[in-house]
Amino acid sequence: MAPMEEFIEMLKSHNRIVFFGGAGVSTESDIPDFRGKGGLYRQKTEFPWSPEEMLSHHFYAEHPVEFFTLYKEREGMMLEAEPNRAHTALAELEKMGKLSAVVTQNIDGLHQMAGSKNVLELHGSIHRNYCMRCGKFFDAAYVKNSEGAPKCDECGGLIKPDVVLYEEGLDENVISKTIHYISQADVLIIGGTSLVVYPAAGLIDYFKGSHLILINKSATQRDSQADLVINDKIGEVFGQL
Ligand code: NAD
Repeated sequence: MAPMEEFIEMLKSHNRIVFFGGAGVSTESDIPDFRGKGGLYRQKTEFPWSPEEMLSHHFYAEHPVEFFTLYKEREGMMLEAEPNRAHTALAELEKMGKLSAVVTQNIDGLHQMAGSKNVLELHGSIHRNYCMRCGKFFDAAYVKNSEGAPKCDECGGLIKPDVVLYEEGLDENVISKTIHYISQADVLIIGGTSLVVYPAAGLIDYFKGSHLILINKSATQRDSQADLVINDKIGEVFGQL
């Protein structure tokens, strides 16, 4: 059977499907990934620091202006983006009662924009921002439109996007829900992720179901574990469903 036919057959015959994705899910929405071709980690920036360093907690605390210069550039791209066919197909599968959860490492909110309801955001979201001093909530536009480092309009405290930076832990509630859905799934589709960012990537080890499907443009360390590997663009693959 051709890989695409096999993929469709697996979706047809199962109703407890979970999707686990990463930055590659949004590249067809014009948001560059980190490690793929043309990704942020391969680009030269105007700064003397590496993107990994600039997206760390200590850097946010010590150099908030430079942190937000890079952050707002990425945030602006995400705010202009529209969901692609991977996002819309996953929302459709959930509506049909076939997909129980989308677990994402992305922070762009495109799964929700496409209509997905049960989205577990392992690395947070650009759409939630809080004052570090008084806890007041701010939306993404407030951060994007601020001068330099965004400050709270009530108490003047520094605002922090609710995104997981390097050196920060993941939300325990999101982790336990992810483990619940992955361990109950009969099909796990992993797509658009290099699977090198831990602890997120380790969560796929909770899968005990029958079919592990990997959809990625390039090879990953987990290809040998999968029942089906499709090396193609994920939006195009889901667009064929
Ligand atoms: P990554 O950049 O490490 O890997 C992306 C993978 O997706 C690569 O293997 C690449 O070959 C593949 N890919 C790229 N475009 C694809 C496509 N159209 N179809 C199929 N595969 C494609 O990303 P990661 O594993 O998610 O880890 C990076 C971290 O960066 C994550 O924690 C994520 O939170 C964050 N990030 C988020 C966004 C976003 O929210 N859109 C964007 C960049 C990075």
